[in-house]
Amino acid sequence: MKRRDLLETWVAAAAAAALPAAANSTVALMHRAQADLRRLQAHLHFLADPLLEGRETGTRGYDLAAAYVASQFAQLGLKPMGDAGSYALPVPLRTSRLAATAPSLDLCRGETCERLAWLDEFSTRPDLSVLHSDVKAPLVFAGYGITAPRFGLDDYAGLDVKGRIAVVLSGRPPQMPSTEGAHFGNGRTKAELAARHGAVGVITLATPRSEIVAPFHLNRQFADNVAMDWQTPDGRGGSDIPGLRAAATVSVQAAPKLLAALGRDYATLVSDAEAGRPLPRGDLGLVARLVRHSVHGQARSHNIAGLIEGRHPRLKDEVVVLSAHLDHLGKKGDTIYPGAMDNALGIATLLEVFRLLAHGAAPDRSVLVVALTAEEKNYLGSAYFARNPPVSAARLVANVNIDMPILLHDFKDVVALGAEHSTLGDAVARAAADLGLGVAPDPQPEQSRFTRSDQYSFVRQGIPAVILGPGGASFDTKEDGNALMRDFRRQRYHQPGDDLGQPFHWAAVQRFAQLQWGLAREIAQQPERPRWLPGDFFGDLYGR
Ligand SMILES: [Zn+2]
Repeated sequence: MKRRDLLETWVAAAAAAALPAAANSTVALMHRAQADLRRLQAHLHFLADPLLEGRETGTRGYDLAAAYVASQFAQLGLKPMGDAGSYALPVPLRTSRLAATAPSLDLCRGETCERLAWLDEFSTRPDLSVLHSDVKAPLVFAGYGITAPRFGLDDYAGLDVKGRIAVVLSGRPPQMPSTEGAHFGNGRTKAELAARHGAVGVITLATPRSEIVAPFHLNRQFADNVAMDWQTPDGRGGSDIPGLRAAATVSVQAAPKLLAALGRDYATLVSDAEAGRPLPRGDLGLVARLVRHSVHGQARSHNIAGLIEGRHPRLKDEVVVLSAHLDHLGKKGDTIYPGAMDNALGIATLLEVFRLLAHGAAPDRSVLVVALTAEEKNYLGSAYFARNPPVSAARLVANVNIDMPILLHDFKDVVALGAEHSTLGDAVARAAADLGLGVAPDPQPEQSRFTRSDQYSFVRQGIPAVILGPGGASFDTKEDGNALMRDFRRQRYHQPGDDLGQPFHWAAVQRFAQLQWGLAREIAQQPERPRWLPGDFFGDLYGR
């Protein structure tokens, strides 16, 4: 459909929906809050319209989407939590893109050097700190690059990586639990651990397993993407890891070139790692040189935040944060990435949940709703928000995040990653049971979803958090929800095909909004504030 047609269709749909929707909400107030399907559809259709050009952070498309969300907040009479009486919380950003000269990665054994092929054999991101980065250092293989005493793992034991580049396998041992595994398998955790051991860089090796989650060839598609970081008041990068100056990824095909000294072929090494068998670690007899030229700039974007004041004299000081990211990938040339599922749909449900909360009796605790920017830029909007909240940080007691709920089937259970770490698990179970839904474990731990969206930014600030999504079971026994979600990830995720042409399951969309509302009420009403469970991994690591 051409853009004009889409706009006309949307305007017509909105007009048709206006009158009955008003009547519906009156009925809902009399009985029980009911998510309004036409409102959900209208939000989704506006936000995923190609007119917004994929809502990339720092673009006009994102700003238009943000203005839409702020307008919805204003209609509901929410308390503005942004600057100067607005809903907009500025996020100062620095940007970096690769210069015209392609980056290079050379591997040298003595005097003999081999240059890996950019985007075929290695990939790297622009450097956010220095314009011309040139790092040369010996390579040391450190297994998965994980130090996790609680799980009896220390890939750095007996290794000296000071001043060297750590070479690590992508991922983590599969026997680790889903969320802790997501934490240790996360590139950021690995980079922090490497830096803590004195390394100056990290080279991550792709594996057949990582190819399923994040295929190496996608690096080509996003190679000219701008990288971003949030900026501290003194001008440093908020995500900067001091001491770490080089980072690159090497493809499955090229990985053996780095590991020849280990005397074990790559397939065997990976299968040993995945079976938890000990790996040969240590010096690789190679010196690597990574050169990157970057072009720096600045950008400004906004999180959009509004508050429903709680009514309980004491509990209203405690704030439950409901979040979803508003940004997406933008466009490449003339090709627009509409990001309908990721995450126009999440914002649509969030807006409807906020409407239900605003119209019902005020909850005991306060509820802050925030549409986040720069999730697709390494979760910067949430990282900035969780460190610089518009209320004092100690008042934030929980986060419920929605990111890309894949609502293509008549889901019968829910997945709440992170729920098992805190008392939020009980709230999730009650909210689900209230709708006759079960709670399912993570169907795809290898996706490491727990650390791949904004809730992790809250966890890192010690705030109990969950990300809520549909499980694979369906009320319709002919449907295989897990297969539908897998197909979405394979075919449409982060592709132009994540658009409005998908067969959304509208009853499921409505139910999902209902579930979110129920969970928000549960958390806002329960007598005790959410807490990490005693001895919990994340509670011990980040809790306060
Ligand atoms: Zn995304």
